Amino acid sequence: MNAKLISGTSIGNEIREEIKERVLKLKEGGCVPGLAVILVGDNQASHTYVRNKEKSSVAAGMKSELVRLPVSVSEDELLEQINKLNLDQTIHGILVQLPLPNHIDENLVIQAIDPDKDVDGFHPINVGKMIIGQRSYLSCTPYGIIKLLERTNTPISGQHAVIVGRSNIVGKPMGQLLLQRDATVTYCHSKTKDLASFTKQADILIVAMGQTKFIGAEHVKEGAVVIDVGMNRDENGKLCGDVDFDEVKNIASAITPVPGGVGPMTITMLLKNTLHSAETAFKSG
Ligand code: NDP
Repeated sequence: MNAKLISGTSIGNEIREEIKERVLKLKEGGCVPGLAVILVGDNQASHTYVRNKEKSSVAAGMKSELVRLPVSVSEDELLEQINKLNLDQTIHGILVQLPLPNHIDENLVIQAIDPDKDVDGFHPINVGKMIIGQRSYLSCTPYGIIKLLERTNTPISGQHAVIVGRSNIVGKPMGQLLLQRDATVTYCHSKTKDLASFTKQADILIVAMGQTKFIGAEHVKEGAVVIDVGMNRDENGKLCGDVDFDEVKNIASAITPVPGGVGPMTITMLLKNTLHSAETAFKSG
């Protein structure tokens, strides 16, 4: 293996320790950061994600509140629940675990969350602020990737960053955050013709496609930094990324593993956003 491994587990732990210390300071002042997670229905993957978020927020010293609602919950009932949490002064971050059942409008739900408690960074106000470069809650996965790049001293300014994937929660905000840091950004998606001709130009290649081990040696330039956002299961049920790690590790200069790469950073940034919200509320009395 030629590539340096970028460990989201160890960088995430470093940041979580810093968060823990700041949580302790807040608690000494009488403020306990509170994160509320709303879980609708019983999707197994969502249960696992929510459990991890709960565990991580408690480990950071925060209060964690889980609101479980049945799959049959009406849109109005869900909106009412969000409104209650918006008004609850002990709650600083609100997260609605996606996906939601089909009868509920996801956009409406996201827009019901107080933008100041929108620790997922999905509210249009936060997305808009992010695009014009104002301080806002950043979508946790791209925010976590920026931290991975920063903490490994990966140059961004002037680099060509190629993003494969244009979802609202990963691909799109990822490109914007890199653009703000003066990268030259190219977006690729399922309609891109000759994907490899673009990915091969990347100094920083960020892959968020949801396609098991799709990106192989033929897609990567010698010495590129490769960030694999994908979380898929291979034919043996083993967790793996969108990048064929075994091939690409011999070409890239640095690469994130799956698991242990981007995943732990996403939850870390959720904690960071929640801490920020609590600190802001504390300062404003
Ligand atoms: P989406 O399904 O919303 O988006 C996938 C994107 O990839 C789309 O823009 C799609 O293009 C593009 N795409 C799909 N197939 C191809 C292809 N053959 N060639 C080029 N582009 C393609 O996924 P998400 O962004 O939500 O997630 C992506 C992956 O990251 C998933 O595996 C998900 O599980 C994982 N993930 C991991 C997180 C973590 O914390 N580690 C957090 C969030 C997601 P088009 O728009 O044209 O359809």
